[in-house]
Amino acid sequence: MADEVTLKTIRDVFALPEPSWEAVTVDAAMLNYIRQRAEEPAFVDPDNTRSQLYATLQQGRASVVVRECTCSLASREQRSWGARVVYVSESPYPAVAAAEVPWSTWARIFQLFGQPRSGAPRWEVIVFASSRKRDFPPEGTLLAPEHINGGSAYRCEPSSILIVRREEMTRVLIHELLHAGCTDDPNQTVPQIEAQTEAWAEWFLTAIMARGLQPRFCALWPRQVAYAEKQAAMCLERKNIQNQNDYGCRYITDRIQAWHNLGLYPTCPKPKSVKVNTLRFSGEFIDPAIVYAKPDKRRPLNK
Ligand SMILES: [Zn+2]
Repeated sequence: MADEVTLKTIRDVFALPEPSWEAVTVDAAMLNYIRQRAEEPAFVDPDNTRSQLYATLQQGRASVVVRECTCSLASREQRSWGARVVYVSESPYPAVAAAEVPWSTWARIFQLFGQPRSGAPRWEVIVFASSRKRDFPPEGTLLAPEHINGGSAYRCEPSSILIVRREEMTRVLIHELLHAGCTDDPNQTVPQIEAQTEAWAEWFLTAIMARGLQPRFCALWPRQVAYAEKQAAMCLERKNIQNQNDYGCRYITDRIQAWHNLGLYPTCPKPKSVKVNTLRFSGEFIDPAIVYAKPDKRRPLNK
């Protein structure tokens, strides 16, 4: 089965040495880059939380952490490639900001994706870590980007990855890496591409948190699919989705169809009931720290 092969690929990645991250000094050019990314139009951030966060940063009431990793391994690959993450936090303390990012998991994700297909030497990600939550809108209100979207990227452009919320930023990173890594099928419509990309993103998130181990994956994946199915039923019942052309369909309902179409629908048994009270796409059972992007208390803050 396709997913057994991919799980093995993930296990193989976890068997490699973990890439390490190096801190990068934030200079005037970097602040200018952050300002540009905060000001550029982004339909996934209609209220422009990025500009508000940038203004807070200028006032010294927010902070930024920049790290780079070299993800290739000299013995396996000839060319060196890596990733750069620019993380703008609502916390004024850089040590707290740094602890919000699951660096170890992200290093593994970049390792799994490999060098950008375009041949570019690195992936570039900027995160404006707004604390804005994904909540159900009132009954009868259609879903819109401000309720669900978390980021954007341009097709095959590894330096274009933008993330605009703190919660679920790891799932969004995977989703945007798929776009930036040239997986979009140009023969599909945008809603089809989005549904398929999101279907894969949740599958990869679950498989990575299971470290590619089949029993762990088999426990988590049916729960995630049951969670998504319950959430989709709630959106229909609450009339946050009313017909098949509504914006919310591509993510909420069509991703379920995509799992069927892609052969990713779980074969292990699903739980009888799951609790859903949010529009977060991933259930907290996958890993609460990863889903909420909580500061990682397992590591010292100054690391
Ligand atoms: Zn997308």
